[in-house]
Amino acid sequence: MAKLTQEERRARLAAREAEREQKRQQRLRRHVVTCPHCGKEVLDHMTKCPFCGGELSPRGYSPMSEEKKKKIRLVTGIIGAIIVIAAFVLAIFLGD
Ligand SMILES: [Zn+2]
Repeated sequence: MAKLTQEERRARLAAREAEREQKRQQRLRRHVVTCPHCGKEVLDHMTKCPFCGGELSPRGYSPMSEEKKKKIRLVTGIIGAIIVIAAFVLAIFLGD
């Protein structure tokens, strides 16, 4: 392997740094959308525009629906009930 001069090494480092910065910018750009109310750039996870206060619909995020919440509550309730019943049954069987 040929030895790199100080200059070459520095140039490579700078190039790598620039590349990294570009990638970072690209990642950031992916999350930038324009506000439909004022046209300014906002991030796609925002629910409210920081410039005009307009409502935004964040991408990749949807609040849990009531239906889903009810289902989760029902399932946790049933599991809880089963555990309580199982504890009772065990207590009765093991009690005497
Ligand atoms: Zn706005």
